[in-house]
Amino acid sequence: MTEHQARLENLKAHILEELDLLKDQADPVALDQPCIGRVARIDAIQQNEMAKSNLRYFQSQLNEVNAALQRLEDEEYGFCEECGVDIPDARLAIKPEVRFCVGCQEGHESL
Ligand SMILES: [Zn+2]
Repeated sequence: MTEHQARLENLKAHILEELDLLKDQADPVALDQPCIGRVARIDAIQQNEMAKSNLRYFQSQLNEVNAALQRLEDEEYGFCEECGVDIPDARLAIKPEVRFCVGCQEGHESL
């Protein structure tokens, strides 16, 4: 296993763990319990909303990691999808699932 692959597999395992925890918290059925008081219920709703947005975040992260693993398999990993430049290792170490170099990423985020 290459270093890149190990990083991505680690990240994926972490994301799957988070998703597993969040699935329960994002489950709206838990809010229907009659024993919850009003304040606790509002709390629970807020937590539920947060869990749902975290869930969406980690799900899209998981897609990115899976896409990166696919690129690794296709030997296209580590290149910017926009301009084709080599993405520096330092950047890949922090965000192993990135698709773009720093310059192109900025372009995408400002859209
Ligand atoms: Zn680029």
